[in-house]
Amino acid sequence: MTVPRIGTYYRVSRVTRETRGNSVGGQRLENLAAAADLGNPAPAEYPEKEGTSASRYSTAARPEWDQLVADVAAGELDIVILWETSRGDRKVLTWVPFVEKCRAGGVLVHITKDETTYDPRKTRDYRALIDGVLDAAGEVDLTSKRVLRGQAMARAAGRPPNRSCWGLRRVYNQDTGEWIDQVADEHTPTVRRIIAELYKGTPISRVAAALTADEIATPSGKAGWTSTMVKRIAARPAYAAMIDHKGELLPGAWEPVVPVDQWLAVRAMLRDPARGTTRPGKAVHLLSGPMVCAKCGGACRAVLVAGSVHRSYQCRHQYCAAVRQDWADEYVERLVIGWLARPGRLAALVADAGTEAAEADAEARGLKDKMDRAADRYSNDEIDDDQLARITATLRPRYDKALALARRLAVPGVLVALFNSDGAPAMDGNLDEAARRWGLLGRAQQRAALSAIFTALRLRPSASGGRAARLDTDRIVYELR
Ligand SMILES: [Zn+2]
Repeated sequence: MTVPRIGTYYRVSRVTRETRGNSVGGQRLENLAAAADLGNPAPAEYPEKEGTSASRYSTAARPEWDQLVADVAAGELDIVILWETSRGDRKVLTWVPFVEKCRAGGVLVHITKDETTYDPRKTRDYRALIDGVLDAAGEVDLTSKRVLRGQAMARAAGRPPNRSCWGLRRVYNQDTGEWIDQVADEHTPTVRRIIAELYKGTPISRVAAALTADEIATPSGKAGWTSTMVKRIAARPAYAAMIDHKGELLPGAWEPVVPVDQWLAVRAMLRDPARGTTRPGKAVHLLSGPMVCAKCGGACRAVLVAGSVHRSYQCRHQYCAAVRQDWADEYVERLVIGWLARPGRLAALVADAGTEAAEADAEARGLKDKMDRAADRYSNDEIDDDQLARITATLRPRYDKALALARRLAVPGVLVALFNSDGAPAMDGNLDEAARRWGLLGRAQQRAALSAIFTALRLRPSASGGRAARLDTDRIVYELR
């Protein structure tokens, strides 16, 4: 077993010289004992000199604390030992980000005074750490009440911001008017439906249309959903019991009303810069442009034929061919999704690309082989885990770099959005995942992707020679890249 990397933070008094020689003060000793219990009798020490006040109103510099926070952020510690939470940092606004960093890095926090090791990744432990500091902060507040309160404190305590949120009902203490909780209300099912649909990959505009069709009231109580309304609701962290503090998500002190993993996935997709901006209300049709008339070569455009409720794509030059838009869109989207999910798709793209990309890809594959061989040797007990860790630490960054280069060179810009990070493996053979990623692209990206994916996409007139909108699939002729 590897020895955990532990950092112990404690305060030393200048008067009693707690650190002189080996005669040490209680905090240091007890922290060291805790470190030994946790598997490392010789932890990194961060001795803060007394006089550097931990009161959150103090502006005194605390270099050791700053160093500890930096080391946590740099991933250099597995466990942090503090004498007590308020000693660690009474400044609520810096304590919360510290706990947040520990949570992100999977760093445990041991509080010697509590004889407890907290795992901030667990909600209960996270709250215990935060609450401990709020208690300490409360004591200081008695003497300086007007300083620092309101939203910042509310956020730290997991209370929601002042603005109430559609789809959540707030519960207040009847006597004091204090906020207690927020819970699901009659609109919550709509919120859940929006998140679930977007997560599945349903385009935003279709979600809006379906809500309108089902005559579900909008947040303003009127009829008619827009894509913007749907997006705005999908982006709200409160449903996942989170608070957005300057772009950082903090856990709220209430229960989520939507599956948190779904919400996070939807949020990531909505925030993906590759989605681009499709202005709501600006009708852009998937195939008007990418699809051309098989007879005359003219581009197809989407038109609303008089007397019909359905839009059709129609050859814009000679009206040789037409097809109902929703059918054609669905058919072509199915082709695209099948193409995206075809196993080895990314490898094939890279192989097709220029030498430079192929070389980067070869390098990446070579490095991957090496890492795999090292892993094999590790499982055969030929090398120990330190050696494996060292090998991986050397190879991994080079591999990531080569792979990123190969992808950047080889894959048409628009497809990078679909294939980025885990995209390709996630979509490999997985139609649902491919559909989800495709659906969350903006319309403009989808159209650009079509140009990259199809080397040909043509609409033939119907067999009867007329402009019948009925779709026989062999009327759409295509070649995939
Ligand atoms: Zn034509």
